[in-house]
Amino acid sequence: MSVVVVSNRVARAKPDEPLAGGLAAALLPMVRDSGAIWVGSSGQNGSDASQARGSFARIEALGTGALATVDMPAKHYPGYYEGFANSALWPALHSRADLIHVSADDYTSYREVNAFMARALLRFNTPETLFWIQDYHFLTLGAELRQLGIERPLGFFLHTPWADRRTVTAVPHHAEIVQAMLAYDLIGFQTVEDRQNFEDYLQAELGFNVVDGTVASDWGLTQLATFPIGIDVDEFAARATKAMGRLEVTRLRESLRGAKLVLGVDRLDYSKGLANRVRAFDRMLELEPGFKRAVSLLQVAVPSRGNIKAYRELKAELAALVGEVNGRHGEVDWMPIRYLNKGFSQLTLAGFYRVASVGLVTPLHDGMNLVAKEYVAAQNPLDPGVLVLSSFAGAARELDTAVLINPHDIDGMARQLAVALHMSIEERRERWQAMVRKLKASSVQNWFSDFLHTLADVRRAPLQAATRPIVLQLANRKAAAG
Ligand code: UDP
Repeated sequence: MSVVVVSNRVARAKPDEPLAGGLAAALLPMVRDSGAIWVGSSGQNGSDASQARGSFARIEALGTGALATVDMPAKHYPGYYEGFANSALWPALHSRADLIHVSADDYTSYREVNAFMARALLRFNTPETLFWIQDYHFLTLGAELRQLGIERPLGFFLHTPWADRRTVTAVPHHAEIVQAMLAYDLIGFQTVEDRQNFEDYLQAELGFNVVDGTVASDWGLTQLATFPIGIDVDEFAARATKAMGRLEVTRLRESLRGAKLVLGVDRLDYSKGLANRVRAFDRMLELEPGFKRAVSLLQVAVPSRGNIKAYRELKAELAALVGEVNGRHGEVDWMPIRYLNKGFSQLTLAGFYRVASVGLVTPLHDGMNLVAKEYVAAQNPLDPGVLVLSSFAGAARELDTAVLINPHDIDGMARQLAVALHMSIEERRERWQAMVRKLKASSVQNWFSDFLHTLADVRRAPLQAATRPIVLQLANRKAAAG
């Protein structure tokens, strides 16, 4: 069996650079150690000629595996990426239908890029290949692969949440997209709730019957299942110990001069609840003035998707808010919030996590949130910090002995943050041990192998004559697009 993993972007193993997000963090070690091929965009957009060939810009080794990158179609990439994927699907899947902002052309581009990637993947098609498609950029890629005659099992994993039915119906062409998704044999979700939302959509919106997590459509059978993504706890713990000698980590620790550190690490994304987090920190300093000078917040906010208006607006909002809070509480020799718009390598981050007394993770909606898991793994077992975690993060299902908060309730968050800062060492240890046990039981290795074993076991039901309407529908769309 040869495994071909497909995502919009791939990650390279550069130890001193930040990773682009949770998908990259999870797949990088898995591809490196499993011998899989990881296919994605080269980050460049190609000419019409190279697109027609689906030619690969580069194929390079990654441990025992390989990275294969392809130049994406210049004409369609912006409409696909900034447009349909990140201005329709991303906001809707994170329950922010109010932020949907797309044109009809964006959907065409999304479908075109999915079709392009399917053609490019033919290069890796052998009788043993298992294709495993990742994330919301490629919801319809499976249907395109089927159109090209691929009959073997196709897997798909969604790294984001799947929102409730009404919110998903705010996405233009939602029914066509979900019907196309049923070309996959296995669809994996981060949490039970995401899977249930998807089932609810299938039943209430499209009239399908879902029996024991399986749905029969014109494409055959699709199995729906939950595979919570994890981390390598031991490796992260080892990294954290090693990182304590790094210059940036030493500088951070010394600069605290005995004060406690609250740490947030996020992409600058509206799903992460950053403004409410800053407001809660502000409120906590008002509620307990004794924390002034004794506690600082370090917020690492890595710029993300800066070509999209909603992200630019968030960046400006947050900068103004941090300035206001620092202006109100700051002293000539102390600022409550250290706010950084840049990323760090995972090694340096591991050291930051270990220095921090509290890991503050407050998304309004998040597929999993690996930062929460990494923070736990990086702690000193004898003197662990406290994870304060939004109950709207997928990670809250497993990390239920974190201090769970409602990210919409600023006062509640402020009070819980104070509870975390005052927590006794006995309680910190007890909560932390329970979390580590759970994290070890659902590692990233388990996630990778559970999904692939389930995928290898699925048997495609023979396509029925009823396949034709969907096939025709796709063919007509292609003809119309010229
Ligand atoms: N990350 C990083 N450097 C940074 C910030 C984040 O390498 O400066 C990594 C972090 O270690 C984690 C991932 O990016 O593995 C973020 O994943 P998460 O699931 O928390 O959020 P996402 O960005 O995928 O929404």
